[in-house]
Amino acid sequence: MDSARIVPVPPSLRRGFYYSMVQSKPKDPWSLLNLDLPARVAPAVGDDRHALHGAEPPQQHVSKSEGMGAWQWKKMLLELASIESISYFLAWRLLNILLFLFLLRWTKKTWWKLRGRGIIGTVVEFYLSLRRVLYGYFLRMPMVKGKVSKQVTEAITKLQRKLIPEDTVRNLSLPKNGMAHDEVRAELQKLAGMEHTRWEDGFVSGAVYHGEDELIKLQTDAFEKFTVSNPIHPDVFPGVRKMEAEVVAMVLSIFNAPAGAGGVTTSGGTESILMACLSARQKAYAERGVTEPEMIIPETAHTAFHKASCYFKIKLHLVACPAPDYQVDVNRVRRLINANTCLLVGSAPNFPHGIIDDISGLSKLALKYKVPLHVDCCLGSFLVPFLERAGFETVPFDFRLKGVTSISCDTHKYGFAPKGSSTVLYRTQQLRTYQYFVSADWSGGVYASPGIAGSRPGALIAGCWASMMSVGQEGYIDACSTIVGAAKSVANGISTSPILTAELEIIGNPLVSVVSFTARNLNIYDIADNMSSKGWHLNALQNPPAIHVAVTLPVAKVWEKLVADLELTVEEEREKERERIVKGTGKKGRAVGDSAALYGVAGSLPNKSVVEDLANGFLDTLYKA
Ligand SMILES: *Cc1c(COP(=O)(O)O)cnc(C)c1O
Repeated sequence: MDSARIVPVPPSLRRGFYYSMVQSKPKDPWSLLNLDLPARVAPAVGDDRHALHGAEPPQQHVSKSEGMGAWQWKKMLLELASIESISYFLAWRLLNILLFLFLLRWTKKTWWKLRGRGIIGTVVEFYLSLRRVLYGYFLRMPMVKGKVSKQVTEAITKLQRKLIPEDTVRNLSLPKNGMAHDEVRAELQKLAGMEHTRWEDGFVSGAVYHGEDELIKLQTDAFEKFTVSNPIHPDVFPGVRKMEAEVVAMVLSIFNAPAGAGGVTTSGGTESILMACLSARQKAYAERGVTEPEMIIPETAHTAFHKASCYFKIKLHLVACPAPDYQVDVNRVRRLINANTCLLVGSAPNFPHGIIDDISGLSKLALKYKVPLHVDCCLGSFLVPFLERAGFETVPFDFRLKGVTSISCDTHKYGFAPKGSSTVLYRTQQLRTYQYFVSADWSGGVYASPGIAGSRPGALIAGCWASMMSVGQEGYIDACSTIVGAAKSVANGISTSPILTAELEIIGNPLVSVVSFTARNLNIYDIADNMSSKGWHLNALQNPPAIHVAVTLPVAKVWEKLVADLELTVEEEREKERERIVKGTGKKGRAVGDSAALYGVAGSLPNKSVVEDLANGFLDTLYKA
């Protein structure tokens, strides 16, 4: 009770929890402020009490040379405190509050982490990140670094040779006098005819979703009429405004949006996802004051969510999608939800495995915990909404599930619109408002734009509108039968052909257009590379190692050849393995192909910085004229 006398606290403050803490705890509150006084002054600290009551401290404790300065400084502070003696109390109290908040924050975070990942999961995560950091140091050791960078450079040079033909004229500066239009057209013809992987023959997974000449012609006509148009000027281009609004309305209707829903068009699936994440982040901030937003996504969700996390500083929680169904583990999602959660995510379907997550389960969570749920239907686009009408098995995925608050749908995938066209849909217009950007006091005038872009190509909106109007519901149902039918035939081929079933295993139960598979014994990347040598361009996947084919209209025409070539490839790779065993060089053999090298060798490293270097080199290569 002694210290209560030290601090003259006005009666009005002599109440409550903090006051009783002050009364009982601090014998020497100044030491808490950590003023770092010289050691010789320290024993005199008890004399603060005198100071507070106006008395001088005992001089013998203070050395003249250094102690006096420190003492005077301290005295000044103390005088300040006694002028407003209450400020002393407040400072101490503030310190306590800060400490309390600090501890609360870390206790909360630790608790969230433990609840979200479990003790083992947390330890494993820690171990993996430690390993990553240590391996990073290893890679930076002078000797290792030299070797690695030499290999990276070699790989990039090889890539350049493949991507950049040597024997072409390179235009590195503007032609002095413009070329005649016919000349330009001839050049364009040559560019279009450059040697490439033949999507026209259906050998490319995904990439070109329609490609029939008649639709291309219609889209080109639409471009021509709206080449100069820009929806940022709705009064100049009213037709574009009308078409954009109608595209959004039509997509909303196929996803069973309720009254009051809204949407926008974007440049592609990535932008649609970025906008949905931004909207969710802004909502959490505006409505709940969340300043450290987090989102919970399936491991298999599109990497655009990682981009959103990086661009918009939203902490990302990845949730495993375990065998046998390869859907996101809803229970683990639940455990990761906390007060900072601004968005849950499910895919319908995801890119790697073509699996539709348990959107109903996620929707229940979203409703229960009152957090938004985004469904990534970029790939599912115009297939998933028509599965039922095309006679295929389906699951709930759209706005009919009450917890679903936003959906991204790529018109430029199975909507067959020209590339550069997608939509993001919101259950309410308020959610859409959260993605808007408005600048009210810019010297260029009041500025408002719906998304990232300022000016936008009206021609693409016209191309999208024209495609949707010409294909129509029946057209999309037909396309769905053809494409999903072919995907099912490929899956069926893999699981019934004696050669293929013995070696390949389909991942999960794909309901849409993507079929992915792993190899039981062979290296799946050797199979991918062998298929490449036969002209096929399939997608290599990792974690687990697998490949997939995304069936499109061109692929649907040649699915039988795809299965036949897979059989041939598996037999050839088996034969190679047999030879290796006979020669005694081991079952697996060295990685020879590009995917085998990238995913087999570089992919197994604990720290992916080498892969990042390679990828950066790849991007640089794209800009080598
Ligand atoms: C294609 C795709 C996207 C978006 O990709 P963009 O290339 O930006 O259009 C998003 N999610 C999934 C599942 C996809 O397949």
